[in-house]
Amino acid sequence: SGLEDLTGLKSLGERDQAVIWHPFTQMQTAPLPIPIVRGEGTRLYAEDGTTYIDAVSSWWVNTHGHSHPYIAEKVAQQLQTLEHVIFAGFTHKPAIELAERLLPVLPTNQNKIFYSDNGSTAVEVALKMAFQYWHNTGQPRRKVIALEDAYHGDTFGAMAVSGRSAFTSPFVPFLFDVEYIPTPVPGREQEAVNQLQSLLSDDVAAFIFEPLIQGAGGMVMYKPEILNQLIGMARSHGALIIADEVMTGFGRTGKLFASHHLSEQPDLMSLSKGLTGGTMALGVTACTKKIYDAFKSEDKHKTLFHGHSFTANPLACTAALASLDLLLSDKTQESIQRISRRHAVFAEHLTQKPGVKNVRQQGTILAFDLDADSQTSSYFNTIRDTAYQFLLDQGVLMRPLGNVLYILPPYCITDEELDTVYAAIERLLQHIN
Ligand code: PLP
Repeated sequence: SGLEDLTGLKSLGERDQAVIWHPFTQMQTAPLPIPIVRGEGTRLYAEDGTTYIDAVSSWWVNTHGHSHPYIAEKVAQQLQTLEHVIFAGFTHKPAIELAERLLPVLPTNQNKIFYSDNGSTAVEVALKMAFQYWHNTGQPRRKVIALEDAYHGDTFGAMAVSGRSAFTSPFVPFLFDVEYIPTPVPGREQEAVNQLQSLLSDDVAAFIFEPLIQGAGGMVMYKPEILNQLIGMARSHGALIIADEVMTGFGRTGKLFASHHLSEQPDLMSLSKGLTGGTMALGVTACTKKIYDAFKSEDKHKTLFHGHSFTANPLACTAALASLDLLLSDKTQESIQRISRRHAVFAEHLTQKPGVKNVRQQGTILAFDLDADSQTSSYFNTIRDTAYQFLLDQGVLMRPLGNVLYILPPYCITDEELDTVYAAIERLLQHIN
Protein backbone atom coordinates (compact mmCIF):
# COMPACT_ATOMS: atom_id res chain seq x y z
CA SER A 1 0.00 0.00 0.00
CA GLY A 2 3.04 2.26 0.20
CA LEU A 3 2.47 2.66 3.91
CA GLU A 4 5.10 1.79 6.43
CA ASP A 5 4.27 -0.69 9.18
CA LEU A 6 2.32 1.42 11.65
CA THR A 7 1.95 -1.17 14.38
CA GLY A 8 3.89 -0.36 17.47
CA LEU A 9 3.69 3.43 17.04
CA LYS A 10 2.57 4.82 20.36
CA SER A 11 2.65 8.57 20.65
CA LEU A 12 0.58 10.93 18.55
CA GLY A 13 3.84 12.50 17.34
CA GLU A 14 5.07 9.16 15.97
CA ARG A 15 1.72 8.37 14.41
CA ASP A 16 1.73 11.83 12.82
CA GLN A 17 5.19 11.36 11.39
CA ALA A 18 4.18 8.07 9.79
CA VAL A 19 1.36 9.58 7.75
CA ILE A 20 1.50 13.40 7.62
CA TRP A 21 3.51 15.97 5.66
CA HIS A 22 3.58 19.33 7.44
CA PRO A 23 3.68 22.86 5.98
CA PHE A 24 6.97 24.79 5.88
CA THR A 25 8.66 21.80 7.50
CA GLN A 26 11.78 19.93 6.41
CA MET A 27 10.44 16.49 7.32
CA GLN A 28 13.93 14.95 7.36
CA THR A 29 15.30 17.10 10.16
CA ALA A 30 12.35 18.63 12.00
CA PRO A 31 11.68 17.29 15.48
CA LEU A 32 8.43 15.40 16.03
CA PRO A 33 5.48 17.81 16.10
CA ILE A 34 3.97 18.55 19.50
CA PRO A 35 0.50 17.02 19.78
CA ILE A 36 -1.98 19.54 21.20
CA VAL A 37 -5.07 18.06 22.79
CA ARG A 38 -6.91 21.18 23.96
CA GLY A 39 -6.86 24.95 23.71
CA GLU A 40 -8.39 27.49 26.05
CA GLY A 41 -7.79 31.23 26.02
CA THR A 42 -4.15 31.88 25.21
CA ARG A 43 -3.15 28.38 26.34
CA LEU A 44 -2.40 25.28 24.32
CA TYR A 45 -2.38 21.99 26.23
CA ALA A 46 -0.05 19.29 24.96
CA GLU A 47 -0.59 15.55 25.16
CA ASP A 48 2.22 15.23 27.72
CA GLY A 49 0.63 17.79 30.05
CA THR A 50 2.86 20.73 29.06
CA THR A 51 1.08 24.05 28.44
CA TYR A 52 2.15 26.80 26.08
CA ILE A 53 1.13 30.45 25.82
CA ASP A 54 0.26 30.96 22.18
CA ALA A 55 2.17 34.24 21.74
CA VAL A 56 1.80 34.18 17.94
CA SER A 57 -1.93 33.43 17.87
CA SER A 58 -1.28 30.19 15.95
CA TRP A 59 0.00 31.78 12.73
CA TRP A 60 -1.69 35.10 13.55
CA VAL A 61 -5.24 33.86 13.26
CA ASN A 62 -6.44 33.59 16.82
CA THR A 63 -7.79 36.88 18.13
CA HIS A 64 -10.02 35.95 21.10
CA GLY A 65 -8.28 32.89 22.52
CA HIS A 66 -8.73 29.22 21.74
CA SER A 67 -12.10 27.44 21.91
CA HIS A 68 -13.91 30.66 22.75
CA PRO A 69 -17.27 29.61 24.25
CA TYR A 70 -19.27 32.35 22.49
CA ILE A 71 -17.93 31.45 19.03
CA ALA A 72 -18.22 27.72 19.82
CA GLU A 73 -21.88 28.05 20.77
CA LYS A 74 -22.81 30.07 17.68
CA VAL A 75 -21.01 27.64 15.37
CA ALA A 76 -22.59 24.64 17.11
CA GLN A 77 -26.07 26.13 16.58
CA GLN A 78 -25.31 26.83 12.94
CA LEU A 79 -23.96 23.31 12.48
CA GLN A 80 -27.35 21.94 13.47
CA THR A 81 -29.22 24.35 11.20
CA LEU A 82 -27.29 24.58 7.93
CA GLU A 83 -23.71 23.34 7.65
CA HIS A 84 -23.15 24.22 4.00
CA VAL A 85 -24.93 25.07 0.80
CA ILE A 86 -23.74 25.69 -2.74
CA PHE A 87 -23.13 29.45 -3.06
CA ALA A 88 -23.96 29.84 -6.76
CA GLY A 89 -27.68 30.39 -7.20
CA PHE A 90 -28.20 30.07 -3.43
CA THR A 91 -27.40 32.20 -0.45
CA HIS A 92 -27.81 32.18 3.33
CA LYS A 93 -28.16 34.53 6.26
CA PRO A 94 -24.68 34.20 7.81
CA ALA A 95 -23.01 35.22 4.52
CA ILE A 96 -25.39 38.15 4.01
CA GLU A 97 -25.14 39.37 7.59
CA LEU A 98 -21.37 39.10 7.58
CA ALA A 99 -21.08 41.20 4.42
CA GLU A 100 -23.61 43.68 5.84
CA ARG A 101 -21.57 44.03 8.99
CA LEU A 102 -18.10 44.00 7.42
CA LEU A 103 -18.66 46.68 4.79
CA PRO A 104 -19.46 49.48 7.29
CA VAL A 105 -16.23 48.82 9.22
CA LEU A 106 -14.00 48.70 6.11
CA PRO A 107 -12.72 51.85 4.36
CA THR A 108 -15.79 53.76 3.19
CA ASN A 109 -15.26 53.07 -0.54
CA GLN A 110 -15.60 49.30 -0.15
CA ASN A 111 -18.83 48.10 -1.70
CA LYS A 112 -18.95 44.31 -2.25
CA ILE A 113 -17.69 41.19 -0.48
CA PHE A 114 -16.45 38.10 -2.35
CA TYR A 115 -15.85 35.00 -0.23
CA SER A 116 -13.10 32.42 -0.50
CA ASP A 117 -11.22 30.08 1.82
CA ASN A 118 -8.01 31.59 3.19
CA GLY A 119 -5.52 34.41 2.84
CA SER A 120 -3.89 33.12 -0.32
CA THR A 121 -7.20 32.74 -2.13
CA ALA A 122 -8.32 36.18 -0.90
CA VAL A 123 -5.20 37.51 -2.67
CA GLU A 124 -5.74 35.35 -5.79
CA VAL A 125 -9.24 36.74 -6.11
CA ALA A 126 -8.03 40.33 -5.70
CA LEU A 127 -5.45 39.76 -8.47
CA LYS A 128 -7.96 38.10 -10.77
CA MET A 129 -10.44 40.93 -10.16
CA ALA A 130 -7.72 43.47 -10.96
CA PHE A 131 -6.55 41.79 -14.18
CA GLN A 132 -10.09 41.09 -15.33
CA TYR A 133 -11.20 44.63 -14.48
CA TRP A 134 -8.78 45.87 -17.14
CA HIS A 135 -9.76 43.08 -19.52
CA ASN A 136 -13.48 43.83 -19.10
CA THR A 137 -13.01 47.55 -19.60
CA GLY A 138 -11.24 46.88 -22.91
CA GLN A 139 -7.86 48.28 -21.85
CA PRO A 140 -5.86 45.18 -20.79
CA ARG A 141 -2.95 45.88 -18.47
CA ARG A 142 -0.32 43.30 -17.57
CA LYS A 143 2.02 44.64 -14.90
CA VAL A 144 1.83 44.34 -11.14
CA ILE A 145 4.04 46.28 -8.76
CA ALA A 146 4.76 44.76 -5.36
CA LEU A 147 7.11 45.36 -2.46
CA GLU A 148 10.36 43.47 -1.96
CA ASP A 149 10.11 40.86 0.82
CA ALA A 150 6.32 40.77 0.52
CA TYR A 151 4.48 37.62 1.48
CA HIS A 152 1.02 37.24 0.01
CA GLY A 153 0.53 33.47 0.22
CA ASP A 154 1.47 30.21 -1.44
CA THR A 155 -0.85 29.75 -4.38
CA PHE A 156 0.62 30.70 -7.76
CA GLY A 157 -0.73 34.23 -8.10
CA ALA A 158 -0.01 34.99 -4.46
CA MET A 159 3.51 33.59 -4.86
CA ALA A 160 4.03 35.65 -8.03
CA VAL A 161 3.40 38.91 -6.18
CA SER A 162 5.43 37.82 -3.14
CA GLY A 163 9.13 38.59 -2.88
CA ARG A 164 11.46 36.03 -4.42
CA SER A 165 12.90 33.75 -1.74
CA ALA A 166 13.49 30.11 -0.87
CA PHE A 167 9.70 29.81 -0.77
CA THR A 168 9.32 30.71 -4.44
CA SER A 169 12.58 29.63 -6.07
CA PRO A 170 11.46 26.21 -7.44
CA PHE A 171 8.47 27.89 -9.07
CA VAL A 172 9.99 31.03 -10.58
CA PRO A 173 9.63 29.78 -14.19
CA PHE A 174 5.89 29.39 -13.62
CA LEU A 175 5.19 32.76 -11.98
CA PHE A 176 4.03 35.84 -13.87
CA ASP A 177 6.48 38.74 -13.90
CA VAL A 178 6.17 41.30 -11.17
CA GLU A 179 8.12 44.53 -10.67
CA TYR A 180 9.37 45.27 -7.17
CA ILE A 181 10.07 48.43 -5.27
CA PRO A 182 11.93 48.52 -1.96
CA THR A 183 9.77 48.21 1.13
CA PRO A 184 9.73 51.88 2.19
CA VAL A 185 11.20 51.44 5.65
CA PRO A 186 12.78 54.58 7.14
CA GLY A 187 15.97 55.19 5.17
CA ARG A 188 14.66 53.62 1.96
CA GLU A 189 11.63 55.80 1.40
CA GLN A 190 13.09 57.98 -1.34
CA GLU A 191 14.47 54.91 -3.11
CA ALA A 192 10.99 53.39 -3.11
CA VAL A 193 9.49 56.60 -4.54
CA ASN A 194 12.14 56.80 -7.27
CA GLN A 195 11.78 53.17 -8.19
CA LEU A 196 8.00 53.38 -8.36
CA GLN A 197 8.26 56.50 -10.49
CA SER A 198 10.48 54.67 -12.96
CA LEU A 199 8.13 51.67 -13.16
CA LEU A 200 4.79 53.38 -13.47
CA SER A 201 3.12 53.34 -16.87
CA ASP A 202 -0.29 52.86 -18.37
CA ASP A 203 0.38 49.11 -18.33
CA VAL A 204 0.33 48.79 -14.52
CA ALA A 205 -2.78 46.87 -13.53
CA ALA A 206 -2.24 46.91 -9.77
CA PHE A 207 -0.04 47.91 -6.88
CA ILE A 208 -0.18 45.38 -4.03
CA PHE A 209 1.22 45.66 -0.50
CA GLU A 210 0.76 44.60 3.10
CA PRO A 211 -0.13 47.97 4.66
CA LEU A 212 2.31 49.18 7.34
CA ILE A 213 3.63 45.73 8.29
CA GLN A 214 5.05 42.95 6.15
CA GLY A 215 4.38 39.83 8.17
CA ALA A 216 6.28 36.78 6.96
CA GLY A 217 8.92 39.05 5.40
CA GLY A 218 10.08 39.68 8.98
CA MET A 219 7.53 41.97 10.65
CA VAL A 220 8.97 44.83 8.59
CA MET A 221 7.25 48.09 9.53
CA TYR A 222 6.90 51.31 7.57
CA LYS A 223 4.99 54.55 7.89
CA PRO A 224 1.51 55.48 6.66
CA GLU A 225 2.75 58.77 5.17
CA ILE A 226 5.07 57.06 2.70
CA LEU A 227 2.45 54.47 1.80
CA ASN A 228 -0.05 57.27 1.12
CA GLN A 229 2.49 58.86 -1.20
CA LEU A 230 3.18 55.60 -3.08
CA ILE A 231 -0.53 54.85 -3.42
CA GLY A 232 -1.15 58.38 -4.74
CA MET A 233 1.57 57.94 -7.35
CA ALA A 234 0.31 54.51 -8.48
CA ARG A 235 -3.26 55.77 -8.61
CA SER A 236 -2.31 58.73 -10.77
CA HIS A 237 -1.41 56.15 -13.45
CA GLY A 238 -4.72 54.35 -12.94
CA ALA A 239 -3.25 51.33 -11.13
CA LEU A 240 -5.69 49.51 -8.86
CA ILE A 241 -4.62 49.50 -5.23
CA ILE A 242 -4.69 46.14 -3.41
CA ALA A 243 -4.28 46.16 0.36
CA ASP A 244 -3.46 42.70 1.65
CA GLU A 245 -4.79 42.94 5.20
CA VAL A 246 -4.75 39.19 5.78
CA MET A 247 -2.39 39.68 8.73
CA THR A 248 -2.97 43.33 9.65
CA GLY A 249 -6.78 43.20 9.72
CA PHE A 250 -9.11 42.89 12.68
CA GLY A 251 -7.36 45.05 15.22
CA ARG A 252 -3.74 43.91 14.96
CA THR A 253 -2.32 47.37 14.30
CA GLY A 254 -4.34 49.10 17.02
CA LYS A 255 -7.08 50.12 14.57
CA LEU A 256 -9.63 47.74 13.06
CA PHE A 257 -7.71 47.72 9.77
CA ALA A 258 -4.28 49.02 8.88
CA SER A 259 -5.96 50.90 6.02
CA HIS A 260 -7.60 53.07 8.69
CA HIS A 261 -4.16 54.56 9.38
CA LEU A 262 -4.12 55.82 5.76
CA SER A 263 -5.75 58.76 4.01
CA GLU A 264 -5.69 56.89 0.67
CA GLN A 265 -8.19 54.04 0.37
CA PRO A 266 -7.53 50.73 -1.40
CA ASP A 267 -9.63 49.56 -4.36
CA LEU A 268 -9.39 45.93 -3.25
CA MET A 269 -8.77 44.36 0.15
CA SER A 270 -7.83 40.81 1.07
CA LEU A 271 -8.85 39.56 4.51
CA SER A 272 -8.60 36.24 6.34
CA LYS A 273 -6.81 35.01 9.52
CA GLY A 274 -8.51 37.07 12.28
CA LEU A 275 -11.74 37.20 10.26
CA THR A 276 -13.17 34.17 12.09
CA GLY A 277 -11.21 34.84 15.26
CA GLY A 278 -9.00 32.00 14.09
CA THR A 279 -11.77 29.43 14.35
CA MET A 280 -12.39 28.42 10.76
CA ALA A 281 -10.86 28.95 7.35
CA LEU A 282 -12.46 31.85 5.48
CA GLY A 283 -11.21 34.51 3.10
CA VAL A 284 -12.77 37.74 1.91
CA THR A 285 -11.92 40.00 -0.99
CA ALA A 286 -13.65 43.36 -0.74
CA CYS A 287 -13.84 45.78 -3.65
CA THR A 288 -15.20 49.14 -4.71
CA LYS A 289 -18.31 49.70 -6.80
CA LYS A 290 -16.13 50.73 -9.76
CA ILE A 291 -14.54 47.29 -9.85
CA TYR A 292 -17.78 45.41 -9.27
CA ASP A 293 -19.53 47.38 -12.00
CA ALA A 294 -16.86 46.41 -14.54
CA PHE A 295 -18.05 42.80 -14.23
CA LYS A 296 -21.79 43.52 -14.52
CA SER A 297 -22.79 43.06 -18.11
CA GLU A 298 -25.19 41.40 -20.53
CA ASP A 299 -22.02 39.79 -21.87
CA LYS A 300 -21.44 36.60 -19.88
CA HIS A 301 -17.75 36.64 -20.74
CA LYS A 302 -17.39 39.48 -18.25
CA THR A 303 -18.38 37.21 -15.33
CA LEU A 304 -15.84 36.60 -12.57
CA PHE A 305 -15.32 32.89 -13.18
CA HIS A 306 -13.95 32.06 -9.78
CA GLY A 307 -15.29 30.14 -6.80
CA HIS A 308 -14.53 27.34 -4.38
CA SER A 309 -16.64 24.42 -3.20
CA PHE A 310 -16.70 25.89 0.28
CA THR A 311 -17.23 29.52 -0.74
CA ALA A 312 -19.02 31.37 2.09
CA ASN A 313 -19.32 28.29 4.25
CA PRO A 314 -22.12 29.07 6.74
CA LEU A 315 -20.16 27.75 9.73
CA ALA A 316 -17.18 29.95 8.88
CA CYS A 317 -19.42 32.98 8.27
CA THR A 318 -21.10 32.35 11.63
CA ALA A 319 -17.73 32.13 13.35
CA ALA A 320 -16.78 35.43 11.68
CA LEU A 321 -20.00 37.09 12.87
CA ALA A 322 -19.39 35.90 16.44
CA SER A 323 -15.77 37.00 16.24
CA LEU A 324 -16.86 40.44 15.02
CA ASP A 325 -19.23 40.75 18.03
CA LEU A 326 -16.29 40.06 20.32
CA LEU A 327 -13.86 42.26 18.41
CA LEU A 328 -16.13 45.29 18.47
CA SER A 329 -16.90 44.92 22.19
CA ASP A 330 -15.46 47.52 24.55
CA LYS A 331 -13.63 44.76 26.37
CA THR A 332 -11.62 43.68 23.31
CA GLN A 333 -11.02 47.22 22.13
CA GLU A 334 -9.65 48.10 25.57
CA SER A 335 -7.51 44.98 25.54
CA ILE A 336 -6.00 45.93 22.19
CA GLN A 337 -5.01 49.32 23.64
CA ARG A 338 -3.75 47.70 26.86
CA ILE A 339 -1.53 45.24 24.95
CA SER A 340 -0.26 48.08 22.74
CA ARG A 341 0.69 50.16 25.81
CA ARG A 342 2.44 47.27 27.53
CA HIS A 343 4.31 46.36 24.36
CA ALA A 344 5.50 49.98 24.10
CA VAL A 345 6.96 49.84 27.61
CA PHE A 346 8.69 46.51 26.95
CA ALA A 347 9.93 47.80 23.57
CA GLU A 348 11.58 50.74 25.33
CA HIS A 349 13.20 48.31 27.75
CA LEU A 350 14.38 46.06 24.90
CA THR A 351 16.15 48.89 23.10
CA GLN A 352 18.59 49.05 26.02
CA LYS A 353 19.49 45.36 25.71
CA PRO A 354 22.69 44.12 24.11
CA GLY A 355 22.14 41.71 21.24
CA VAL A 356 18.86 43.37 20.25
CA LYS A 357 18.40 45.54 17.16
CA ASN A 358 15.66 47.39 15.40
CA VAL A 359 12.93 47.16 18.06
CA ARG A 360 9.61 48.06 16.46
CA GLN A 361 5.97 48.03 17.39
CA GLN A 362 2.63 48.67 15.80
CA GLY A 363 -0.39 48.09 18.03
CA THR A 364 -0.43 44.52 19.34
CA ILE A 365 2.60 43.48 17.27
CA LEU A 366 6.05 43.85 18.80
CA ALA A 367 9.14 42.74 16.89
CA PHE A 368 12.91 43.00 17.11
CA ASP A 369 15.97 41.49 15.50
CA LEU A 370 18.42 39.29 17.30
CA ASP A 371 21.75 40.79 16.45
CA ALA A 372 23.06 37.64 14.82
CA ASP A 373 25.99 37.80 12.41
CA SER A 374 25.17 37.72 8.73
CA GLN A 375 25.94 34.01 8.44
CA THR A 376 23.20 33.13 10.85
CA SER A 377 20.58 35.69 9.93
CA SER A 378 18.85 33.84 7.16
CA TYR A 379 15.76 31.71 7.01
CA PHE A 380 17.95 28.66 7.49
CA ASN A 381 19.85 29.92 10.49
CA THR A 382 20.35 28.06 13.70
CA ILE A 383 19.62 30.97 15.99
CA ARG A 384 16.01 30.71 14.89
CA ASP A 385 15.83 27.07 15.93
CA THR A 386 17.65 27.75 19.19
CA ALA A 387 15.31 30.61 20.08
CA TYR A 388 12.20 28.65 19.09
CA GLN A 389 13.13 25.67 21.24
CA PHE A 390 14.34 27.78 24.17
CA LEU A 391 11.05 29.69 24.28
CA LEU A 392 9.03 26.47 23.99
CA ASP A 393 10.97 25.14 26.96
CA GLN A 394 9.82 28.28 28.81
CA GLY A 395 6.21 27.46 27.92
CA VAL A 396 5.92 30.16 25.26
CA LEU A 397 5.10 29.50 21.61
CA MET A 398 6.85 32.00 19.36
CA ARG A 399 8.05 31.21 15.84
CA PRO A 400 10.96 33.48 14.92
CA LEU A 401 11.22 34.56 11.30
CA GLY A 402 14.95 34.05 10.77
CA ASN A 403 16.54 36.27 13.41
CA VAL A 404 13.32 38.28 13.89
CA LEU A 405 11.44 37.61 17.10
CA TYR A 406 7.93 38.90 17.49
CA ILE A 407 4.90 38.74 19.74
CA LEU A 408 1.45 38.78 18.17
CA PRO A 409 -0.87 37.51 20.90
CA PRO A 410 -4.59 36.81 21.16
CA TYR A 411 -6.32 39.91 22.54
CA CYS A 412 -7.48 38.02 25.63
CA ILE A 413 -3.89 37.68 26.88
CA THR A 414 -3.67 38.91 30.47
CA ASP A 415 -1.03 41.26 31.86
CA GLU A 416 0.45 38.33 33.79
CA GLU A 417 0.69 36.21 30.67
CA LEU A 418 2.30 39.09 28.78
CA ASP A 419 4.82 39.38 31.62
CA THR A 420 5.52 35.64 31.30
CA VAL A 421 6.22 36.10 27.59
CA TYR A 422 8.43 39.15 28.19
CA ALA A 423 10.34 37.29 30.94
CA ALA A 424 10.91 34.33 28.61
CA ILE A 425 12.37 36.72 26.04
CA GLU A 426 14.66 38.23 28.68
CA ARG A 427 15.91 34.76 29.59
CA LEU A 428 16.45 33.95 25.92
CA LEU A 429 18.55 37.09 25.50
CA GLN A 430 20.66 36.09 28.52
CA HIS A 431 20.98 32.59 27.11
CA ILE A 432 22.24 33.58 23.67
CA ASN A 433 24.41 36.58 24.59
N1 PLP B 1 -1.21 37.55 2.98
C1 PLP B 1 -0.55 37.85 4.12
C2 PLP B 1 -0.20 39.26 4.43
C3 PLP B 1 -0.22 36.82 5.01
O1 PLP B 1 0.45 37.12 6.13
C4 PLP B 1 -0.58 35.50 4.69
C5 PLP B 1 -0.24 34.39 5.59
O2 PLP B 1 0.61 34.47 6.43
C6 PLP B 1 -1.26 35.26 3.51
C7 PLP B 1 -1.57 36.31 2.68
C8 PLP B 1 -1.67 33.88 3.13
O3 PLP B 1 -2.71 33.45 3.95
P1 PLP B 1 -3.02 31.89 4.11
O4 PLP B 1 -1.87 31.32 4.86
O5 PLP B 1 -4.29 31.87 4.90
O6 PLP B 1 -3.18 31.33 2.76
